[in-house]
Amino acid sequence: MEHVEMKDLEKSYDNQKNVLNGINLSIEEGEFFVLVGPSGSGKSTLLRMIAGLEEITGGILKINDKVVNHLRPKDRNLSMVFQNYALYPHLTVEQNILFGLTAKKIDKKEQQKRLIETADMMGLTELLKRKPKQLSGGQRQRVALARSVVSQAPLCLMDEPLSNLDAKLRAHMRIEIRRLQKKLGLTMIYVTHDQVEAMTMGDRIMVLNDGRIQQVGDPITLYNEPANLFVASFIGSPK
Ligand code: ADP
Ligand code: MG
Repeated sequence: MEHVEMKDLEKSYDNQKNVLNGINLSIEEGEFFVLVGPSGSGKSTLLRMIAGLEEITGGILKINDKVVNHLRPKDRNLSMVFQNYALYPHLTVEQNILFGLTAKKIDKKEQQKRLIETADMMGLTELLKRKPKQLSGGQRQRVALARSVVSQAPLCLMDEPLSNLDAKLRAHMRIEIRRLQKKLGLTMIYVTHDQVEAMTMGDRIMVLNDGRIQQVGDPITLYNEPANLFVASFIGSPK
């Protein structure tokens, strides 16, 4: 089943020229879908439009077969992890993880149940009483992921979530995120500017340049049959 569908999606900021043009795309339920492209190509803008954080200036966005162009973010049943995964410095790990649930008025018993499960799954059980400054970069990243997981939203959006981590930790977290996505059966839309990350993580990949889709396909197709020179040189395949 299609989880997210875009028809002729466009975006312009303040009536300037479009930063996204003619985005037509369907993302399947349970798919790990990667948006890749150079800096400024429009990846974050597209993700923020799906999240409802940015106004859609043209076209149609559907989630679960329902037009959501004007639906508020909190009614879209999704979670988002940002690049700098800002945690609240004055709150404990536990309070950071539960922050979104408190706002959603989910009852205390249910909150505790989810907290225990999520902390266990993410290896955070021993760290719940700590403050963010007492954590390593990787641990903070796991807290940000836990905050997203605890919401139990079936659609997860991530915008360059690993860009602040060192290479070793990044490699480890790629595997952890994929495992989590599979285990929970999430539909994932994952933004990166890193070709290796895209090729190793994605079931399918969309290559974006200058606000236009260059190609959508699985990693092997993109590598073996790049649609144009941009894709060929960006992915690093021969053409
Ligand atoms: P990416 O995430 O791929 O680096 P962005 O979506 O951040 O790209 O940006 C796409 C284009 O939109 C860029 O040209 C950027 O300058 C522009 N842009 C992004 N945010 C804004 C904004 N709030 N106001 C005006 N222009 C913006
Ligand atoms: Mg960006």
